Amino acid sequence: MSTKTALVCGAGGFIGSHLVRRLKQEGFWVRGVDLKFPEFSETAADDFVIGDLRDFDFCRAVIDRRFDEVYQLAADMGGAGYIFIGENDADIMHNSATINLNLLEAARRRAARRIFYSSSACMYPAHNQEDPDNPNCAEESAYPAAPDSEYGWEKLFSERLFLAYQRNHGIAVRVARYHNIFGPEGTWTGGKEKAPAALCRKIAAAPAGGAIEIWGDGQQTRSFLYIDECVEGTLRLMRSDFSGPVNIGSQEMVSINGLAEMIMGIAEKPLGINNIPGPTGVRGRNSDNRLIREKLGWAPQRSLAEGLAPTYRWIERQLLRNAA
Ligand code: NAD
Repeated sequence: MSTKTALVCGAGGFIGSHLVRRLKQEGFWVRGVDLKFPEFSETAADDFVIGDLRDFDFCRAVIDRRFDEVYQLAADMGGAGYIFIGENDADIMHNSATINLNLLEAARRRAARRIFYSSSACMYPAHNQEDPDNPNCAEESAYPAAPDSEYGWEKLFSERLFLAYQRNHGIAVRVARYHNIFGPEGTWTGGKEKAPAALCRKIAAAPAGGAIEIWGDGQQTRSFLYIDECVEGTLRLMRSDFSGPVNIGSQEMVSINGLAEMIMGIAEKPLGINNIPGPTGVRGRNSDNRLIREKLGWAPQRSLAEGLAPTYRWIERQLLRNAA
């Protein structure tokens, strides 16, 4: 039997680098592509090409064969401090849309078999996420569209672009809407980190008996999915006969203050919380897993606390290493 091949775009990023590792464990020959190598570990890819996917010729060069599986994870992205402040909107829309337009066209010209696209829960209408106890993120609630960020609008456009290529050009497309993925080797400092990593860092860095700052009143709710679960859900969707779009997330919703308290419990470090003004996004968001359960028979296996424990330990180690 010949070795299966996979292309992972965004393989230098958080989810991409974990996905490459998993595909290697499964025996794939993997090519990774990114502007940069993974920050926190050696890539597991057989071939890693550094380059800019906004460049069409580069996209054509890296899709030089009919890969069995193509994963498109490359995007200009970050946490609330990056995507909700307005200053990066033009870059986010231009960069990510250009990558998706180029990659799909290059894949079409090489008669690609199957391509996965990572959309985001940020494409859901803001008005369905005003009640922190009862947000609606069912897949069919996407329209009429009203995301609260340009990042979300770009994701919605690109979802449609991928599905249009499937309809008109016969490429099998799989679209997931990820909900807040976290875990070791995710961005944890520098402005692009998201709530779980930012809170782990603040808690690890705080002096005993001190306090941490949290943006907003801390009553905003979210759910968070551990990276290994995300990779599992992604592979199951890719290899299924269901195109999506479908949520890949957890239904274990917590408030942001509650998340901080959970991490303090793991760290065995009780601290105060100062809720300060800052970018927060919608009031409430939770994955709705009915569709993925129905179509793929899949749901995440681990609790939030089980994923937070290794994530906290990893960030604590990064802090100690930086201080040394
Ligand atoms: P990430 O930022 O760690 O990875 C994205 C990678 O894309 C980065 O390594 C970046 O260098 C690369 N990239 C950006 N522009 C590029 C370009 N022009 N050419 C080549 N590479 C380029 O993000 P992630 O958390 O791993 O997310 C992966 C995908 O999943 C993204 O599309 C993101 O929007 C989506 N997503 C992630 C989450 C999450 O919680 N992490 C939630 C929803 C959706």
